[in-house]
Amino acid sequence: MDIVFPGDPEWEDARVGRVFNARRPSRQPAAVLRAVCEQDLIDGVRLARARGWKVAVRSGGHSWAAWSVRSDSLLIDLGGFREISYNSDNGVVSVTPSVRGGADLRPYLAERGRFFGGGHCPTVGLGGFLLQGGQGYNARGWGWAAESVVAVDVVTAEGELVRADESNNSDLFWAARGAGPGFFGLVARFHLQTRPLPGCVAETVHVYPLDLFDDVMTWLHGMHHTVSPDVEIVAVSAEGSLAVTGLALVATLDEAREALAPLETCPVIDKALVRQTAVPSSFESHAERQMAANPEGFRYIVDNAWLTGSAEAMGPLFKDLPTVRSFAIWFSMAPLRELPDMAFSLQSEIYCAVYLVYEDPADDVRLRSWLTDRMAALQPITAGQYLGDSDFTARPVKFMGEAQYRRLEEIREARDPERLFVGYLTGDGQPPLNVNPWEAS
Ligand SMILES: Cc1cc2nc3c(=O)[nH]c(=O)nc-3n(C[C@H](O)[C@H](O)[C@H](O)COP(=O)(O)OP(=O)(O)OC[C@H]3O[C@@H](n4cnc5c(N)ncnc54)[C@H](O)[C@@H]3O)c2cc1C
Repeated sequence: MDIVFPGDPEWEDARVGRVFNARRPSRQPAAVLRAVCEQDLIDGVRLARARGWKVAVRSGGHSWAAWSVRSDSLLIDLGGFREISYNSDNGVVSVTPSVRGGADLRPYLAERGRFFGGGHCPTVGLGGFLLQGGQGYNARGWGWAAESVVAVDVVTAEGELVRADESNNSDLFWAARGAGPGFFGLVARFHLQTRPLPGCVAETVHVYPLDLFDDVMTWLHGMHHTVSPDVEIVAVSAEGSLAVTGLALVATLDEAREALAPLETCPVIDKALVRQTAVPSSFESHAERQMAANPEGFRYIVDNAWLTGSAEAMGPLFKDLPTVRSFAIWFSMAPLRELPDMAFSLQSEIYCAVYLVYEDPADDVRLRSWLTDRMAALQPITAGQYLGDSDFTARPVKFMGEAQYRRLEEIREARDPERLFVGYLTGDGQPPLNVNPWEAS
């Protein structure tokens, strides 16, 4: 096993070198195991048990809050264990968790005429993404990525490798679809149901001046649930303007034109600064834009909320971003689809997330407090948050249905009674998890 210890020349690189966010924590693991095969994962969990360490896991390293870097743990880093295989009989692709949804899996499947909706940024690891639900391409119409997980191979806290699906170890299977960084096992492999590769990717982009935010977003709130389920709808505030995009993932350009037509009905469309309608596009060009919007080497502070209220209430957050590279997104999940029985269980029709992008560490405190204040102003219309863009050390908010959270804790007690796996990262003196603090009384 390739294990790096504090003090070794490679320590800093092993500890945080694969963490995407340049705002890296000072937390010190006990050791880092750079895994390259399944046996390393089993041996790693057993070693941690024997040494009295906890276990933390890293797949793609894209947790904004660097959840993988935990004090006094054995950090098992899966970066060197990247495998994909495909079964054309049933359309199921099997991946190790460090496989990147866009950069690795999408081209592999495209060669076979298949598709799986990984994260929008191509370098996001499938491990953390799938465990927390996975808001992939067109989650609005095609569901959460975790809904397409058909089985997981898990190294349990006992150090045993087991298959979990609907009929075997179904408690682990239930938990692995939504527990996120609170999962109490090490996923060695995911088995995912793929879908046919869309024949046509086309998009409508309307860019408006930000002072039209209330007009545009009030219209969008009133109509997004009526748009075809094959269209992903996102509004992004960046660089002083508001872009409303519809991305149609369909078979032909004619179908795309029809699916995107409702986006032409905005009452202030004549004031759009840019107006592109049903223009052929590609996943590659999307990936490039995502990489440009989320550059490596920058510091990020990120927060999010599932919202239930009017567009006007969101205006202050979208109109007043504090750094030039920062952006805020409004992501439609309407009309809400019924979720299968799994740990992921909290959402609303509108997902809102804010990404503060900057370089100077001296801005950390000021920007965090700016964002905390803006998110606090949204509390009256906040149902909860999505694990993927959250950081409980800064702002713990409800992320799961209450019954599901109780069940998750019961399964944890049965599967990992000694708390070998690190679980959710929280700050000192914080309220209990999965509670909206402003509703706690
Ligand atoms: C630029 C960027 C773009 C993003 N875009 C999207 C998006 O479009 N949609 C979306 O839903 N999210 C998105 N995210 C959020 C991202 O999905 C989460 O941060 C996710 O946790 C990243 O997974 P990872 O494996 O890369 O991260 P890691 O930091 O490696 O993992 C995060 C945590 O997940 C757990 N974990 C990971 N792998 C395993 C495993 N094999 N076994 C057990 N536990 C494990 C661990 O607790 C780990 O600390 C984005 C993040 C970034 C940085």
